Amino acid sequence: MSTEEEMEWPSKGPNCPECRKPTEPTKYRDRNLLLRAWKCTDCGFMILHPLDANFMLKLKKEKEFEVKVGALGKTQIIRIPALLRDYYHIEKGKKVLIEPKSSTEFTVKVSAD
Ligand SMILES: [Zn+2]
Repeated sequence: MSTEEEMEWPSKGPNCPECRKPTEPTKYRDRNLLLRAWKCTDCGFMILHPLDANFMLKLKKEKEFEVKVGALGKTQIIRIPALLRDYYHIEKGKKVLIEPKSSTEFTVKVSAD
């Protein structure tokens, strides 16, 4: 990972490449993904966060991830693909929230820390 990719999410973003005015943090929606971005306060030019832009490009190839349910003793486990593990910083011991949505769907919420 380059230094640029590892950069934090500063409240003051880079200046707009079009008009050189300051930008402010915003969100950019692509399909059902909400990506971090900066928006020019003057012309509205959007700059995607490099990590999120890279993640979105990789996701374009795979809309969904089919994974197999495994078992660990009496517990069912679902493997998390490496792309998602890295992007969401999911490590052993990290807590996530599972929220039932319907009879065929649930979401897994990862905290920001
Ligand atoms: Zn601008």
